Amino acid sequence: MKEYFLSVSVSPLTYEEIITELRIRINEEKQSTIIAVNPEKVMTAQKNPEVKDLINASTFQIADGVGILLASKLKKGQVKERVTGVEMMSRLLEFAASDKLPVYFYGAKEEVVKKAIENIKNDIPNLQVAGYSNGYRKDEKKLVSEIDASGAKMIFVALGSPTQELWIKRNIDQLRNVLVFQGVGGSFDVFSG
Ligand code: UDP
Repeated sequence: MKEYFLSVSVSPLTYEEIITELRIRINEEKQSTIIAVNPEKVMTAQKNPEVKDLINASTFQIADGVGILLASKLKKGQVKERVTGVEMMSRLLEFAASDKLPVYFYGAKEEVVKKAIENIKNDIPNLQVAGYSNGYRKDEKKLVSEIDASGAKMIFVALGSPTQELWIKRNIDQLRNVLVFQGVGGSFDVFSG
């Protein structure tokens, strides 16, 4: 079920509903991608068909930005709550810990990603961290084989948009064991603070 804003797809699902669907998809070994949509991205997509395709081809387009929620309410749509990228990531970390899914963190500056993981581990001690990398490496092939070998089932990619979504699109077929991909923009900076 999707809702459309100027031909850009949004999943009208709550955090809980997304997690429930993800659990089913993981059991079926299906890969899922999560992208945040806000009014700015809807406008970018009007000018840039590649961005529109990236959004519409994602498994879950979360209704980030209060503007999407308001627009949906105005047209009596299905979006029930705002689903932000940072909060979605928090919920996914809890889910990963409870379902024993190892997590990989890719993006941001070295000290930022390290500090973010330290804070997250303090909050969720039973989280399995498969590995991490800063977002300024040039050896993409090597990085992808490291992620593949790490045993990660979930990855957060924090390179900014649409760079992170393009990275996911380029590499998802080489990362068959990773089942959940979320592009999280500046979220590692938030967790590191
Ligand atoms: N970043 C990165 N590699 C790059 C460019 C950016 O890892 O080559 C990181 C940057 O350090 C920051 C994040 O990507 O942590 C971008 O956050 P921003 O808030 O700009 O992204 P947005 O949420 O606006 O897409």
